[in-house]
Amino acid sequence: MRAFGPADLHAHSSVSDGTQPPAEVVASAARAGLAAVAITDHDSTTGWAEAGVAAREHGIVLIPGMELSTRRDWASVHLLGYLFDPEDIALHAETERIRLDRLNRAERMVARIGDDYELEWDDVLAQTVPGATIGRPHIADALVARGHVRDRGEAFESILHWRAGYFQPHYAPDPLEGVLLIRAAGGVPVLAHPGVSRERVLPEREMRELVEAGLFGLEVGHRDNSEDGKRILLRYAEKFGLAITGSSDYHGAGKPNLLGENTTPADVVERIVAEATGSAPVVP
Ligand code: AMP
Ligand code: FE
Ligand code: FE
Ligand code: ZN
Repeated sequence: MRAFGPADLHAHSSVSDGTQPPAEVVASAARAGLAAVAITDHDSTTGWAEAGVAAREHGIVLIPGMELSTRRDWASVHLLGYLFDPEDIALHAETERIRLDRLNRAERMVARIGDDYELEWDDVLAQTVPGATIGRPHIADALVARGHVRDRGEAFESILHWRAGYFQPHYAPDPLEGVLLIRAAGGVPVLAHPGVSRERVLPEREMRELVEAGLFGLEVGHRDNSEDGKRILLRYAEKFGLAITGSSDYHGAGKPNLLGENTTPADVVERIVAEATGSAPVVP
């Protein structure tokens, strides 16, 4: 059998807020020496087909995935889902609802920012591939193009930060609902960067609830997780029998994160593939 690791199970393309088309993300992953890569665009599976063709071409395993936006008590919680059925009606309806409200929310944010800075909705569209899941990174790129900030990082530290007063939330389901939806679609759910700070780690009671609903693993290897956060996550993994993954959260030129900076070993990927019933990996 072909090796499923080392794998990078978290990467974004221009189908959401990455800067490269899906085929280029896959080509870059192969060049980085990875055995497998997951394309996990925010709330979208639109990149799967193109990524699959590229995976065969470049001789790398593709794990089709998605990063589902969820929220609890105003804190955004990202849930990676792997190998679910992309045509599952309930999950698809939910991602359409999120994507539509992301668009609406971005328009509202741009209208507010436009009161104080030269910025129009067309500036954001100019930074977005048609059909992409819109997010603050596209507004950031428009602010860069207008010369208001140097890069995405500066935009997030200033105008796009919630403290600046332009921030608007978008619709997102509860993480428990997210885990249930991904499992019902035959997929395997993993909490993305769940240890950014000690305070942001879900309390044990809430973690147990997600595990009972079918949570498979925790993305412990992620540059945004704090050392304190990772310690708590490793304790949860042990206690609840959760798998541990590591990934880059690559966004092309949109973030400093590099493909392969954190990886997941082959045996964990094999367990994901074995548990999934919604779709199959692309194995060249
Ligand atoms: P949104 O979901 O629209 O609120 O935007 C959040 C997205 O912005 C996340 O998916 C991150 O990938 C991206 N992001 C957050 N902080 C930064 C940053 N400092 N630099 C670049 N991208 C960021
Ligand atoms: Fe992102
Ligand atoms: Fe995320
Ligand atoms: Zn991500």
